[in-house]
Amino acid sequence: MGEARSETKGRVTISRRGAERLRAGHVWVYRSEVAEARDVQPGALVTVQEEAPFRPKQLSGKSVRLTGPRVLGSALYSTASEIAVRMISSKPVSDLEQLVRERIRAAIAYRGRFVENTNAYRVIFSEADFLPGLIVDRYNDLLSMQIVTQAMDADAMRNVVVSELLEAFNPAAIVERVDPRVRRLEQLAEKESGVIYERTLLAGETPVAPESGGGSTSAGAGRGRPAPHNPLKDGVGTAAHVNTERQVTTEFQMNGVRFVYEAPGGQKTGAFLDQRENYTAAAQYARGEALDVFCYQGGFALHLAHKCSRVTGVDSSRPALEIAEQNALLNAREIEWIEANAFDLLRDYADAGRQYDGVVLDPPAFAKSRQNLQTALRGYKELNLRAPKMLRPGGTLVTCSCSYHVSAADLLETVTAAGVDSHRNLRLLENRGAAKDHPSVLGIPETAYLKCLILLVR
Ligand code: SAH
Repeated sequence: MGEARSETKGRVTISRRGAERLRAGHVWVYRSEVAEARDVQPGALVTVQEEAPFRPKQLSGKSVRLTGPRVLGSALYSTASEIAVRMISSKPVSDLEQLVRERIRAAIAYRGRFVENTNAYRVIFSEADFLPGLIVDRYNDLLSMQIVTQAMDADAMRNVVVSELLEAFNPAAIVERVDPRVRRLEQLAEKESGVIYERTLLAGETPVAPESGGGSTSAGAGRGRPAPHNPLKDGVGTAAHVNTERQVTTEFQMNGVRFVYEAPGGQKTGAFLDQRENYTAAAQYARGEALDVFCYQGGFALHLAHKCSRVTGVDSSRPALEIAEQNALLNAREIEWIEANAFDLLRDYADAGRQYDGVVLDPPAFAKSRQNLQTALRGYKELNLRAPKMLRPGGTLVTCSCSYHVSAADLLETVTAAGVDSHRNLRLLENRGAAKDHPSVLGIPETAYLKCLILLVR
């Protein structure tokens, strides 16, 4: 490191349409809005300028540029993604590594101010922390990192990120979660999820087996430890250094509820950390019998369990429910887990006249793109039509959408219509978003993807 200082060589000229989005507070420029890209390497730091307007020159009939291009700032460039440009500063950046270090420290300091009652939270959230392409989650003493752009995948960037994380958290391990589809789209070398850093045990320390609990991390306990590798010296996360075999597990807690975390073998990440504050909000109103639909590893169900006499969780994924049951045991709660298609189950239960005091609906993102928005809205409508019918008067409905394409207004409108069709009156107790470790940036609507409405049913 050190000598590999970044310099801005490339220059990207963008259309007025792209420039207008940037002026409105966004940071992305799409490939179709790039008029010219000069000297650009994959993942390069580039200077972004706006195409100078052409004005007709009346006498000759030719168009001429009347003004020079306007410089809009510095960005990270992708030669492959549809999102060609991700702005990182409105000023020229001479030392990208230093800027990234400062932003990581700021992201960590932000969590220090605003995140409480948990040792699991999102430490860095890409554009929402002015670090496009980088996501880091903390699960107690483990960190999980995800890289989704060419720029962040560069070895120099990885070294900066890992060294800052080690300094701030001294984690037991860092795992990298890889989305193969994203790497293909960014034309990055294939790679598997795995452990990219493991702390060397100090003399006398022994690795703790997962069974022993107590919140300690176990990394492949009992299988002998590999020679520790020094990320700063050896480089981090290059294909040669990923250990895909090792299973790392830990235990984390949020709002006093305990959870197991398995990486990277788990079905997805360890948890939906963005719902953390919504769990507490939902629990506030909980009583009697509750049904958590799309429960995954039991996030809502476990939070409701200390207020309710009976909690049922429903999900179509058996592996998720197996972890949910482990979580229930860890918290000494008895929860009924049902493996089923939520749509079928809700129809059957509604037909059978089953009644609850609380229902949670937290489906996966139905609208993956704008094209299937209408189909997605029909899905939300169906769920939100059935649930109120299954609620006793005075019961609460917690209904969520994590589709960015479904706006807060779309969801409200759909739930309103569903309430009318189900002949129930719905009063809005809370209109919520993601927890504060997933901040949404005004001007970047993609950062405001999660909606959570809490309604009182009459
Ligand atoms: N509420 C959870 C997160 C839910 S994520 C939490 O707070 O942790 C969405 C879940 O929906 C996933 O676990 C997925 O397995 C499940 N799922 C997707 N389609 C489903 C279906 N048709 N029926 C039941 N579960 C489904």
